[in-house]
Amino acid sequence: MKLVSFADVKLEDVNVEGAVGTKIRWLISQKDDAPNFALRMFEVQPNGMTPFHSHAWEHEVFVLEGQGELVLAGEKKPFKRYDVIYVDPEIFHQFKNTGETVMKFLCIVPHEDAPKKKMREESSGNPFAAGTANNC
Ligand code: ZN
Repeated sequence: MKLVSFADVKLEDVNVEGAVGTKIRWLISQKDDAPNFALRMFEVQPNGMTPFHSHAWEHEVFVLEGQGELVLAGEKKPFKRYDVIYVDPEIFHQFKNTGETVMKFLCIVPHEDAPKKKMREESSGNPFAAGTANNC
């Protein structure tokens, strides 16, 4: 169990190539012994952006503050506070701040390694049961 204010979670620079004015708080992560998912909070400065990238796992995003643009291959979609965004695996994507204030969003991802805790062995539609859903 963990119960903290987000403000008490360390705000870290995102140093990945292509990231501009972007910081991250790992609100819940493997450091907390969460077996499957990480909850991150991003803070993107005006004119800042996450890198244009793709990977084998999905993003589940909730926009807390500000406004921005989701950049996909050949497509741009504006978003604003309280919008919900799902980014499929293997899709190139980038989050850009298009506003004049800090843009903040939550982003849930599976851990990069295999889940530590299996749910149920017999499949009930749970993709983690076989341990194959979140390879990176
Ligand atoms: Zn991503």
